[in-house]
Amino acid sequence: MSPLPGGTMGRLLEVDLAAGTARPLALDERLAGLFVGGRGLGTALLVERFLRLRDRHANPFRAVDPLAPENPLVVSTSPANGTTVPTSARFHANFKSPLTGGIGSTNSGGRWGVEFKRTGHDAMVVTGRSPKPVVLFIDAGGVRFEAPPEADLDDVEAVTNALESRYGRSVRVMTVGAAGRRLARIAAIMNDKGRALGRGGGGAVFGSKNLVAIVVAGSVAVESAAPDALRPTNIAGSTYKAHAKLRVGKLTKPPEQFGILSSMGTAGLLGMLSQYDELIHCNFRDTSHVAEQIERIGGEALASHPAIKVRRRACYLCPIGCTRETELLDACGVVVDRGEGPEFETVAMLGANLDIYDLEPITEANYLCNRLGLDTISAGGTIGALMEIFGIVRATRPEARTEGERALMADAAAFARACGAPAAGAPEDGPFAPTFGNVRALVPLVRAMASGEGALGRALASGARRLAEHYGHPEAAMAVKGMEIPAYDPRVTWTQALAYMTTARGGCHLQGGYSAPIAFCAGYGEFPGIKSEGAALVARNFAYQNTAYDVLGVCAFAGFSVTLDEYANMLNDVTGLEMKASDLETVSRRVLTLERLFNLLCGFTPEDDWLPERFYRDPIAVEEGNVLCPEDEFRAMRAEYYESLGWDERGVPRESAIRELGLDAILGAAEFERMTGGPPSPAASARQAGHGQYQQERPA
Ligand code: SF4
Repeated sequence: MSPLPGGTMGRLLEVDLAAGTARPLALDERLAGLFVGGRGLGTALLVERFLRLRDRHANPFRAVDPLAPENPLVVSTSPANGTTVPTSARFHANFKSPLTGGIGSTNSGGRWGVEFKRTGHDAMVVTGRSPKPVVLFIDAGGVRFEAPPEADLDDVEAVTNALESRYGRSVRVMTVGAAGRRLARIAAIMNDKGRALGRGGGGAVFGSKNLVAIVVAGSVAVESAAPDALRPTNIAGSTYKAHAKLRVGKLTKPPEQFGILSSMGTAGLLGMLSQYDELIHCNFRDTSHVAEQIERIGGEALASHPAIKVRRRACYLCPIGCTRETELLDACGVVVDRGEGPEFETVAMLGANLDIYDLEPITEANYLCNRLGLDTISAGGTIGALMEIFGIVRATRPEARTEGERALMADAAAFARACGAPAAGAPEDGPFAPTFGNVRALVPLVRAMASGEGALGRALASGARRLAEHYGHPEAAMAVKGMEIPAYDPRVTWTQALAYMTTARGGCHLQGGYSAPIAFCAGYGEFPGIKSEGAALVARNFAYQNTAYDVLGVCAFAGFSVTLDEYANMLNDVTGLEMKASDLETVSRRVLTLERLFNLLCGFTPEDDWLPERFYRDPIAVEEGNVLCPEDEFRAMRAEYYESLGWDERGVPRESAIRELGLDAILGAAEFERMTGGPPSPAASARQAGHGQYQQERPA
């Protein structure tokens, strides 16, 4: 009998693309016990693989280029994936990030993860670089290395359709589009056509391996320890109770009861967040929107738009169904394009953030991001930085412009010409000028970004921080650790701000705790937005909660209604273990601490846990008055946050915490010191180094 918990397949798939080999290994029982699954298991496997490179590098975490063949791409599932636990579709990917130079960590819903698990594997580690473009086909019988399809390999939809034709409609396809193939640092790994492992540039890691697609065809049943208790119709069972909670939650109840997520999709949050002055505007310059303009891009507008036909969709076994599949119609009602989205973050980042209040171009830009494989948050954040810098340069006399500013104007002029603007005349006021509110420029900018065409396209593909530095205005990059922050303004929600600052993968609203919508939309008034007292502990608790969801493989949206205790009960019915919510919080702390160690080994310092200066310097006007992030209070909150996790004042996990969490079995304090030569160095860190240049050419 397997000693592994129920819900676990017991196998890890190891793929070496350079050698063209794949072999199943027994899943490490110790790692599965400590980290459960998903983000936890993936982080542990990533760290373990990096540690194996110590024979080649004194400190492989720092030395390995994210786009080098030795950077492992880890895909991991959770025991609950493929069972009847509601929203248990989510799976995870880990890698060293080409965007931040630290840990890459991202997850996705849909169906791919469940089907991968049903091939009989809990996780997969892909290393090396194939000598030629390759498709991996995985089923219960093993792995085949096959030729790419006869299709436009830059187009996610075309590749998916071609591979479904080859292998049958029941397979699930993971691929990257033009952005990943050309190593854009904000490229996503796409699956199920419109689903994204979006954040941190995983698409570029995938593309750098000459990997065209991973196709999975699942057939193996996932066995739970207590299947009867997990039957959704068993009123005494754990799953029944979770469904009941989802049916009454303000955000998660069914559409006929006007649950916000189910009836309008995530775009339904837009109006509410704007009302609370949280919704960003013009690259985080303020949160002021005209109410009528917000109404034009919110959830109600999407549901009733005359030129957009909307269908509600859901990930595997999700009763909420926040996903929106849409079709764009022309004036005669003929479908001109179709795809997934737009979701809240996409509408906010490619719309409100750019002063664009028109759902049609936002939807079109969203389709393009899906098809060419771009993370929509990073895409919107990077275009926002470009528009801000362009505005500054436009207002500067030509003779007073810096070298970077002159380069921007030359690149913008070339971009405009490539879009068909007249060759003569300045780019400042042309139809494709990258200015806030210029709807016409949006789709061409996204296309240039994904394809890396022209100097402007290449700068965009490198993300906001590199673009802003390149054009001489680093202050315009609204990024933490180099990753673009999402659409909630940190000045209005300090617990969310702390999550942006401290999350290991960079500026992120999810992994470090998704407190903004809880505080404002779900009726939990006890989490005030602008208050430092107690904020560190609230942020820490939200980080525990969201990390637990990622470990369990469930959706954070379900957490609006289902408690961690209730999820622990479902996990126990799957695994046969006896875990409480507090045990899951310990797993979360272990994961957060291991992610922290990874980043410290890559050269990160406390200064990387810091917001862009704008938020400390420039107040915004909200109902409560003018607000900003007071620097002293934020330094104090950061220190309190570190302390609450057992980290010292520099954010370095204490030896006692490492031992208490059982991490010394993987990466002990002595080994950490040996690799770093002592405390982490603040020198120009690996995250700033070249990591290989953005490439216009496809690899091999
Ligand atoms: S709430 Fe939305 S994202 Fe979450 S599992 Fe359901 S459909 Fe997927």
